[in-house]
Amino acid sequence: MIELRHLEKRYDSPATGNPFYAVKDLSLTFPDGEITALLGPSGCGKTTTLRMINRLIEPTAGHILIDGQDVMELRPEELRRRVGYVIQQIGLFPHLTIAQNVATVPELLGWPKAKTQARVGELLALVELEPNQFADKRPAQLSGGQQQRVGVARALAADPPVLLMDEPFGALDPLARDKLQEAFREIQQSLKKTIVMVTHDIDEALKLGDKVALLDAGSLSQFGTPDDLVRRPDSDFVQQFLGDDALLRQLAGLRAGSLARAGDASGLPQVSASLDARSALSVMLRERAEAVAVVGAGGQISGVLSFHDLERA
Ligand code: ADP
Ligand code: MG
Repeated sequence: MIELRHLEKRYDSPATGNPFYAVKDLSLTFPDGEITALLGPSGCGKTTTLRMINRLIEPTAGHILIDGQDVMELRPEELRRRVGYVIQQIGLFPHLTIAQNVATVPELLGWPKAKTQARVGELLALVELEPNQFADKRPAQLSGGQQQRVGVARALAADPPVLLMDEPFGALDPLARDKLQEAFREIQQSLKKTIVMVTHDIDEALKLGDKVALLDAGSLSQFGTPDDLVRRPDSDFVQQFLGDDALLRQLAGLRAGSLARAGDASGLPQVSASLDARSALSVMLRERAEAVAVVGAGGQISGVLSFHDLERA
């Protein structure tokens, strides 16, 4: 669990003499094993908040606790072991191979070579980059989407319980982004990391976030599930930020499994219960079907979701 307590980052401007608060009195708890999307317009303090969690930026006031321990009191190795970090510009080392890039943190932590090697193979497979094909390549030989996968693998290398991600899919074209988001959600279903994901992309926040924390000018505007924000915005700012196409966004924030009802599923296209409802609608349109069969985590059909159910939702 990560707790921010009255966190503040103030920049004093000698020019104006007025202090500027990049983050102001921010108190927030990121639940264990969940993805919390840190959402908000450009410049609202998302990156500053994330970088304070792993001490790349020092707060001017307040505290950050990871499992009850103040991050300012953690040794750097301890922080590296606990917290993985995926940055916006991917940030792979261009002169190192893919395998060496993924091995960065295990090597800093002094893992035995064999253990590191095994871990690198395991992670490349996890992000669907065939180790035999990719381990010895350089970053420049990979597509943007493949590089981003390496970035995710590298952050997971030492199996940290906490993952911080800053616009992790931002540099990708929409198709590659969708695929990687989907892959990422599947990975998270088995890994159950505590993830803080910075994004300015509302769809991404509603799609991937178990919780969403919406920031406005350095302060918390609303914290809740995607459903909470879309259906129960607690201010005009929240409502305006989510925008006029809230209807489709809303579908993106709902899971097919939560809307499915009992019914005859025979012959219908199947979707996973964890799929968002907007994607389920896409499947209906693509397959020219008025309903889809919803398949639970165990592979059993848990119900039927029809076009009318979506209308009602
Ligand atoms: P974002 O939500 O887009 O990630 P940031 O956290 O990067 O926003 O920045 C929040 C605000 O703090 C912005 O207005 C930015 O200009 C300001 N800021 C960031 N770093 C500094 C700095 N070193 N000095 C002064 N202002 C800064
Ligand atoms: Mg940023």
